[in-house]
Amino acid sequence: MKISEYIEQADKPLFSFEILPPLKGQSLKDLCEGIEPLMEFKPPFVDVTYHREEFIYKKHPNGLLEKVSTKKRPGTVGICAAIMNRFKIDAVPHLLCGGFTKEETENALIDLNFIGVQNILALRGDAPKSENKFVPEPNGHAFTKDLVLQIVGMNKGKYLHEETETGFHTDFCVGVAGYPEKHFEAPSMKFDLKHLKEKVDAGAEYIVTQMFFDNQKYFDFVKKVRELGIKVPIIPGIKPITTLGQITMLPRTFYLDLPDALMDDLEKCKTNADVKDVGVEWAIHQSKELIANGVPVLHYYTMSKAEATYRIAKEVF
Ligand code: FAD
Repeated sequence: MKISEYIEQADKPLFSFEILPPLKGQSLKDLCEGIEPLMEFKPPFVDVTYHREEFIYKKHPNGLLEKVSTKKRPGTVGICAAIMNRFKIDAVPHLLCGGFTKEETENALIDLNFIGVQNILALRGDAPKSENKFVPEPNGHAFTKDLVLQIVGMNKGKYLHEETETGFHTDFCVGVAGYPEKHFEAPSMKFDLKHLKEKVDAGAEYIVTQMFFDNQKYFDFVKKVRELGIKVPIIPGIKPITTLGQITMLPRTFYLDLPDALMDDLEKCKTNADVKDVGVEWAIHQSKELIANGVPVLHYYTMSKAEATYRIAKEVF
């Protein structure tokens, strides 16, 4: 079923979460067993992230370095099929502009349609780690709006290089990302929101936010988005902090602030277990306040470690 339909039909806030494909060479079994306990909270859908290629340098015996492209976490499409098959819930693959030509995007969408995927989170992706600027593939999409237009076009039977629309069309529900603390490349919030509106005008049916730790930032974001006339559901993304390393890694990687009250508690922590307790408590508080303010879905970034999310969901759902 489509996420827009789940939300329309729900009489209470829904629980959902995001997982990462396992590192190359690791099995899917551990991931599936890990998330199994979360099925108790009846998630209608689970997001599966997509990880583009990275470039590494391989040293040859003669001392020369060879630049090779590798994917550390392949398998998004296969995991979606496995999740739908095993848990009988919808899987939402993330689909990127980066690393894809339009032709490859079309082929990926055909595969996703054939395995029964009905929802796609459309994203631009970032530059590979070794590069500092996002560059689209030749004949790829530079911005997510254009990826949304391609998906929506296929929903109308429009395929590349076909003169006329074909009889067979897909029926994907498309989501896009929103940033309560602004996307890091956008020079201003107003600029970022203008382009968010373009994604929705292109056909996106819901927005999932980047993680945030201060609910007021989400509330302010929603207010500004609504003032622009954007009506689609805005799903808040929640991440429980679970390790000492994340205290500096999350702000650096995702361009966000940790509130003073949260930092006051985190600064007292000596171990990862202490941090996890604080992070879980904070996320429970965030979740309850968001539910009290009428959010349609709470979407948790598990980073494929389900235990903290389980503790939160047990208190909240
Ligand atoms: P866009 O909407 O294309 O925007 C990118 C930037 O360009 C913004 O600053 C925007 O303001 C600006 N912009 C947009 N249109 C224009 C225009 N016409 N002219 C000038 N500027 C413009 N990354 C992954 O690699 N894999 C994942 O699975 C993944 N999942 C994610 C899930 C969520 C919920 C979120 C919030 C992010 C996720 N990301 C993922 C990260 C995402 O790919 C990056 O944040 C990326 O830098 C931006 O993606 P976007 O879709 O928001 O881009």
